[in-house]
Amino acid sequence: MTTTKPSKQTALRTHTCGELNASNNGQTVTLTGWVDSKRNHGGVLFINLRDLYGVTQVVAGPDSPVFKTAEEAKSEYVLRVTGSVRPRPGANANKNMPTGEIEIEAADITVLNVSQPLPFDLGEHAGVLEETRLKYRFLDLRRPLMAHNLVLRSRLSQVVRNYLYSLDFNEIETPMLTRSTPEGARDFVVPSRNAPGEFYALPQSPQQFKQVLMMSGMDRYFQLARNFRDEELRSDRQPEHTQIDLEMSFVDEQDVARVVEGLMGEIFAHIGEQISGPFPEIEFTDVMLKYGSDKPDLRYALEIKDCSSLFKDSQFKVFSGALADGGAVRAIKGEKAAAFSRGDMDKLTELVKKHGAKGLVWLRFKDGKWESPTLKFMTEPELAGLKTLLDVNEGDAVFLAADKPVIAAPCLGALRNELIARLKPAPIKKWAFLWVRHFPLLEKDAESGHWTFAHNPFTAPLPEEAHKLDTDPGNIRSCQYDLVLNGVELGSGSVRNHTRAIQEKIFALMGYDKEQVQRRFGMIVNAMDFGAPPHGGIGMGYDRLIGIICGTESIRDVIAFPKTTSGACLMSDAPSAIDEGQLKELHLKITE
Ligand code: ASP
Repeated sequence: MTTTKPSKQTALRTHTCGELNASNNGQTVTLTGWVDSKRNHGGVLFINLRDLYGVTQVVAGPDSPVFKTAEEAKSEYVLRVTGSVRPRPGANANKNMPTGEIEIEAADITVLNVSQPLPFDLGEHAGVLEETRLKYRFLDLRRPLMAHNLVLRSRLSQVVRNYLYSLDFNEIETPMLTRSTPEGARDFVVPSRNAPGEFYALPQSPQQFKQVLMMSGMDRYFQLARNFRDEELRSDRQPEHTQIDLEMSFVDEQDVARVVEGLMGEIFAHIGEQISGPFPEIEFTDVMLKYGSDKPDLRYALEIKDCSSLFKDSQFKVFSGALADGGAVRAIKGEKAAAFSRGDMDKLTELVKKHGAKGLVWLRFKDGKWESPTLKFMTEPELAGLKTLLDVNEGDAVFLAADKPVIAAPCLGALRNELIARLKPAPIKKWAFLWVRHFPLLEKDAESGHWTFAHNPFTAPLPEEAHKLDTDPGNIRSCQYDLVLNGVELGSGSVRNHTRAIQEKIFALMGYDKEQVQRRFGMIVNAMDFGAPPHGGIGMGYDRLIGIICGTESIRDVIAFPKTTSGACLMSDAPSAIDEGQLKELHLKITE
């Protein structure tokens, strides 16, 4: 049997609105699409007919039998146009448009559907409230830019799949109705009808299942997985988001990194960008020292310097007090920031105060001299040392924070971001990938006083530091790694615990007794009893990645049907109340 491969030609059209060019001149074609715009030039009607693939100009002259239909067609009417392809008269050709050399002389126009006047102009959407765009998402998605984002997203999922299949990963679905896996957020829960008073949790990630798949001998798993996290929403967060989630057996951190770097290489090659690994890597403690953030934007060179030793004999109470308290004095240079006004300096001071600092010390280097309200507290050798350490030149400014390292780091990190935003230094690269490695395994939970995980409770300690689980649990580095791109945390992962003994020790430090471990994590710890292999993996935010690639401000622009920052879908009106009958079936009662 011979079959022809289906094409975009269908019963209703011969071509799409994006494919005709001068080589089609003289052909009779049928196009379908929406009225994107319409103009009347001296009695001749020009309709731009649009579909997903492009826009084609349709012409109806005053004597044309279809003139009346063309005249009556309004924005977003759905038309079927038959006519002949002809060259646009010389001056009218539009080289910037793939179909810009031709037009269709309409011989027949059928109105397939009409449209009400639009709630917003699809061409002039700039001032439109996002709420309106989300309520009429079906119209918003007709805008070529939005359509482009979704199509690219779809194509890139294919790239991801092809690459991972080529490395023998298996794509395996994991349940949506499940138990909670802690990833540091609140769960969304679904009441069970069959088990009164019991609930499923929507997965915060497929974490436990993917690990169990490794314990099942699946060797390499991936999934474009949907994760549900009930947390405060921002422009880069949604209550449900997609991850490229993967897990591999018999690996170390570097094995996972090579797979991810190759994947990024393929994805970026698809958009014409060359990316190659290995990506730079930096220890968590070093990244906090140098950049004040665990997701620094390394397109920019700005670095924080520790100048505690310069000020060890300082007479300045702010410095000597912080140093005596076990703190540090750290500084960052703003190139050409001496132009900042007092008002600017005040704003920067407010910014660091928001991050916990008591204040900000700043100095401007102008006309070969330092100037600062705190200059009198500094000695010549201290200033000379600062100038050398930070390579200060005419017109630069220096900002210093003196505090406990846990406060000084984020303050200067926030300041670094602000300096980048204000000074707009030239980027040293377009795509700055970075691995941040060896986060602390455990942190103290301020509320409970227990240890809690920094990434997830399944992360393994560095083997050479595991012995400290009994003696010094706060000082253990873990096998956790984060992938950062242009200042965005793109993914997190780790090499996992695969023995029950270590996993239980970590749970115990987190305050879970054996019974609680069994109840909450029985599935995974039980599987560890039966020959669990060493394994590790990562989850990478797919919406964020596509957002960066598409250059959007918000990940909502790369998700077909996103929710607002209050978690609502304005088009479907979710969430919504359910009726009494449903509540009863679910054994639920709403109380005020
Ligand atoms: N489950 C983790 C997350 O969603 C990813 C991982 O550790 O593989 O961040």
